[in-house]
Amino acid sequence: MRFDIMTLFPDVVKCVLESSIIGRAQQNGYITVQAHDIRDYTLNKHKKTDDTPYGGGKGMLMATQPICDCFEAVRKNYKDGEKTRVIYASPRGRVFNHEIAMELSRYDNIVILCGHYEGVDQRVIDEIVDEELSVGDYVLTGGEIPACIMVDATARLVPGVLSDKECYEKESIASGLLEYPQYTRPAVFHGKEVPQVLLSGHHENIDTWRLEKSLELTKERRPDLYERYVREHEDELMKLNKKKNLNNKRM
Ligand code: SAM
Repeated sequence: MRFDIMTLFPDVVKCVLESSIIGRAQQNGYITVQAHDIRDYTLNKHKKTDDTPYGGGKGMLMATQPICDCFEAVRKNYKDGEKTRVIYASPRGRVFNHEIAMELSRYDNIVILCGHYEGVDQRVIDEIVDEELSVGDYVLTGGEIPACIMVDATARLVPGVLSDKECYEKESIASGLLEYPQYTRPAVFHGKEVPQVLLSGHHENIDTWRLEKSLELTKERRPDLYERYVREHEDELMKLNKKKNLNNKRM
């Protein structure tokens, strides 16, 4: 899978996406991430890429020509028949989440346009963008951090990027619940002990404990997710309750 990021600040994107798991995934050929400097495409002799907005108002807008020419160059990398989606990182967009990351992971190519200053000329959006996506209800100074978030969350769903599908399927949100508390050595730290069940080696009991903790945490912090999980996993939860009742009787 390929990600092309169109930006005025390619170093910001490279700095994040060339390290750690996403960097390794690129080195191992599971994904390609390329940051394109929009400024390289401007025809302005002073290398300007922005201008004042028509109608007045504060700030500058990114102009049409450099972005559209940059996009034309990016598009040349794609083969006929490949599925491509062009996204503009924007606080006006649909709010990015795990489901959207899943949708994006099914494309061959994802292009992300990063705005800066007051944003981009609307005609660019109308001409090349399939969808505006936001990373949350706040405004950042540029689209580079949102682009990194979208690439990271999507790339880890691409086969091979993580060692096992289980790595993301069992995690918060993707599993439908929030993750249970986790612990590592030492077994006692500042007088606080790791729950005994996790030291027992009894896998069924450990799974049950983890599910209970996930349910408790999700009910408390994300009642919306909890309600959905309960609706969709009636049988599993009935079994869990039966087991709990049985254990209580034994005690
Ligand atoms: N004037 C724009 C508005 O009111 O919608 C905001 C422009 S913002 C200062 C500059 C750029 O940062 C945007 O063009 C966009 O690419 C990016 N950006 C800011 N907040 C964002 C968010 N929540 N999600 C995605 N991108 C965002």
